[in-house]
Parts: sequence; C-alpha cells; structure tokens
Amino acid sequence: MRSGLLIVISGPSGAGKGTICKGWLEKNSDAVLSVSVTTRPPRPNEQDGKNYFFKTREEFEAMIKDNDFLEYAEVYGNYYGTPRKYVQQQLSKGRDVVLEIDIQGALQIKERFDEGVFIFIVPPTMEELRRRNVNRGTEDPDAVLKRFKCAFKEINFIRRYNYVVVNDSVNDAIENIDAIVKAEKCRVDRNLNLIAQLQGGGICE
Ligand code: 5GP
Repeated sequence: MRSGLLIVISGPSGAGKGTICKGWLEKNSDAVLSVSVTTRPPRPNEQDGKNYFFKTREEFEAMIKDNDFLEYAEVYGNYYGTPRKYVQQQLSKGRDVVLEIDIQGALQIKERFDEGVFIFIVPPTMEELRRRNVNRGTEDPDAVLKRFKCAFKEINFIRRYNYVVVNDSVNDAIENIDAIVKAEKCRVDRNLNLIAQLQGGGICE
C-alpha cells in the first residue's frame, strides 16, 4: 500500500494555520490531524485529546526519555511535541497526516522525512498579522508582543519549506493547499511502484 503524505504546516502565530488546517481536513476526510502533546495550560474552550494532550513538564520529559516524539520543541516557554506512534501508524495505513507545528519542529521532521511536504502560511502583511493577534484575544498583551516579534524571525526560515501560502482569504488558502497536495501525489518519485507495475506489463515484447 502507498504510504500517506506527511504534510507539515507552519507559520507565525495568527497567520491562520489552525483555521486553514481545519478547513482542509473537512474537505479531505481521509486525512487526519496529529494532535500534539503540550505543557501549555488549556485555553477556555480547549479539550484534552482534541486540541492537545495536556501534560505536566514532568510527564512530557518522561515521554522525551521514552522516545515518544517524532519531534518536540520549546515554544514560547512551553513544550510541544508530535506523538511518534500515531503519525507512523496513520501513514502506514495510507492516510495523509497534517502536522501543525512550529519551525523548530518542522526542521527536525525535515531532517528525517525529506519526503514530507513543508508548507509555510503567511499573512498578507505584517500589520494584518498584528491586528489578528490582538483581535484573537487568547493571549495577554505581553504574550501577543512576544509572538509578534517571533514572527519576524520565523519568516527568515521560509526558504527551508517547499511552499508558501498567503492567507488573505481562508478559502483560497485551502484551495492552494489542496492543489499542492494533489500535485505532490502526482510526482514521479512518489509513483515509482505504479511505474514499475506499468513497465512490467510487457506489451511491447
Ligand atoms: P498555541 O499555543 O498557539 O496552540 O501554539 C503555539 C505554537 O506551537 C504554534 O506555532 C503551533 O504551531 C506550535 N505547535 C503546536 N503543536 C506543536 C508540536 O507538536 N510541535 C511543535 N514543534 N510545535 C507545535
């Protein structure tokens, strides 16, 4: 069976990664989102096991020791990590898996899974990013400022990704991700088994 595609989505806080991933997953019901583990406290509307698996630092560190993560990183003072087992199981069942993770994590994945698809979501302007972060109201003003300053540094890493998607309109961004995934699946190097089968057909002999 053909392995699923590992789709890694990053971008500065407030660029709209969450909304875009959710929208794309609704259109692609065979694909799954990897729910990360974090030591960040839950926000009021967040549920354990749905948005994140919420753990203490001690629990997280024990998981690091047990090699439970495909990647992990410290982001804005909290740990975040991708559960290894779930992702590997889904990929081997042929399901596409979306990781919505920060740049440090994406670069770790890239070292090991160069065959992944690395997409960076950007806002149309930095002013718009600042406005979205303030309006979102999930963080206090200091945290908003910290995340905004980080965004400038994060954008410097964009060249390590394969694709950039501007989130001006959510629907257009979702369509672009759809187009990227479809094109990636048609790449010759992802279809070598199919090609070998066709070559084994032997009509010219
Ligand atoms: P938030 O606290 O806003 O939910 O997420 C903060 C940042 O952590 C975002 O950039 C998000 O993409 C990133 N993040 C979420 N889960 C993971 C993960 O499993 N690994 C890494 N490296 N980053 C993550």
